[in-house]
Formats: sequence, C-alpha cells, structure tokens
Amino acid sequence: MELDKRDIDLHSVLCPLCDDDLETVDHSIVFCKHAIEIWDRVYKWWNMGSFASFNIHEVLGEESCPGSSAFGEKIWLAVQWISAYIIWKNRNNKVFRGYCWTAPVAFNEIQIKSFEWITSKAKTKKLDWLTWISNPSSFLSVC
Ligand SMILES: [Zn+2]
Repeated sequence: MELDKRDIDLHSVLCPLCDDDLETVDHSIVFCKHAIEIWDRVYKWWNMGSFASFNIHEVLGEESCPGSSAFGEKIWLAVQWISAYIIWKNRNNKVFRGYCWTAPVAFNEIQIKSFEWITSKAKTKKLDWLTWISNPSSFLSVC
C-alpha cells in the first residue's frame, strides 16, 4: 500500500500470501492468517493466552505483563520483536524467493533466534535452553 500511495504501479495491492486483504504493514505482520498462525504459537508458547491485537503497535508496544519483572518484560518484548522480524523475513522469502511458508519452521526459528539473541545481548546466565523451550514464561519474574 505504501508503494501504491507513491504512484508506483503494482500488479496487485493484495497480500501475496493470502490474497484476502490489502498488503499493509499491519496485515503482513499481524492480521494475515499466516502471521496469526505464528503469533498463536508464540503466545501459546509463552502462556500469554490468545493472540488478539488490533495493530502492529500493540504487538510491539511496551504493554506491561502483570507480575513481571522489568527483565521479564524486556524478554517478552524482545520475543515479540523477533517474532515480527521472523514473520517479515519468511514473508519476503516466500514472495521474492518462492520459499515455502511453514509456521512450524518459522516458530522454531523464533525460539532459537530469540534465545541466541537475548542471551547474547543480556549476557546473563539466568536463561537456560530447556526452560526456554518448555516454560519460558517462568522467566517473566526473573530480576
Ligand atoms: Zn495475508
């Protein structure tokens, strides 16, 4: 939609993944059925209930998690940003390179990359891989 607003002639302004709606940032990262499939997995993994956001700013905002430490909130926010990045990357790989879109593969990439990037950046020994995979919400209360 941003390219169309700038009078760049496009074949279509519909989402190239689902063909159901206009291709906006909100649609591509939040509302596309393919993106929702991944967000649902991430929210379930973190025991955050159902994924229900109205736009990308809500997804990537700094809404606090009740009972979470500042460190825990930063981790959850980082996971959401990394999820948005992986959704965007996989979308581009599908659209521009013809790769298959598979939610399980994208979700596994989110689990791996978020652990690697957060442990690297946070330089902490508070996170371990097995807990990260099986019960990451336990890190929400870590100070
Ligand atoms: Zn779509």
